[in-house]
Amino acid sequence: EIKIQMKNISKVFETEEMETHALKDVNLTIKAGDYVSISGPSGCGKSTLLGLLGLLDMPSGGEYFVEGVNVSSLSLNEAAEVRNSKIGFVFQSFNLIDEISVFDNIALPLRYRKDKLNTQEIEQRVNKCLELVSMTHRSKHKPNQLSGGQQQRIAIARALVNEPAILLVDEATGNLDSNTGDQIMDVLDELNQKGTTICMVTHESRYADRATTQLKLLDGAILTTPELTSCSALQY
Ligand code: ADP
Ligand code: ADP
Repeated sequence: EIKIQMKNISKVFETEEMETHALKDVNLTIKAGDYVSISGPSGCGKSTLLGLLGLLDMPSGGEYFVEGVNVSSLSLNEAAEVRNSKIGFVFQSFNLIDEISVFDNIALPLRYRKDKLNTQEIEQRVNKCLELVSMTHRSKHKPNQLSGGQQQRIAIARALVNEPAILLVDEATGNLDSNTGDQIMDVLDELNQKGTTICMVTHESRYADRATTQLKLLDGAILTTPELTSCSALQY
């Protein structure tokens, strides 16, 4: 089952002085249960690609399909709706709301849905996600009462609560010490083993290596296997 497909995707940023071809002819297929890492040097287009995958921005050319639906030319409102229902996003910063409980943070994406869920359904979904990240015991806490690693676990739970087609992860360990970062990576590994489809951007090769499909970006293009072999000295 194909979750995500990009065909000949390009992205050009135009400013007064110059044009930047941030992505050039990117082709990408992600199937259910895949665990994909994207790495490459600074400026190679990783954030741009993740932004397009997450419908935070629209491509300049090419076609993008989420669960078979062409989303390449949606309006901003339509894109936001697909993003909320089909995409889970985990960032380097946890982006939790400190004024409300962990439970309510995780419930937030459910409350933005068009098809309203009842209280019991919300509770079941949130509790299931708390369990997935081993944080059931913290549901009544406020985010600022938790460690960084715990906050990232909550952010992951929030990203999963709408049962997205894919979990997009942008340098999830960037704000964590290496020990805590390793634990967050263990959470992602475990989620993938339970069937969650993951696409993560990381500049840490020891994390990229955990993915089952490891993509390298260079100058806005995904390197193919022969290219990778011929420049094996490439350091990230
Ligand atoms: P990475 O995440 O791999 O560091 P980015 O996707 O952030 O790379 O950037 C890819 C290229 O696109 C870079 O040359 C960057 O300067 C350019 N770029 C990214 N976002 C913008 C923007 N909003 N406006 C203009 N140029 C941009
Ligand atoms: P961090 O390493 O981010 O500071 P903790 O070590 O406190 O976070 O919590 C992460 C892990 O520790 C979770 O897997 C959780 O199951 C476990 N844990 C921490 N406190 C408790 C608790 N009171 N009851 C059960 N498990 C806990």
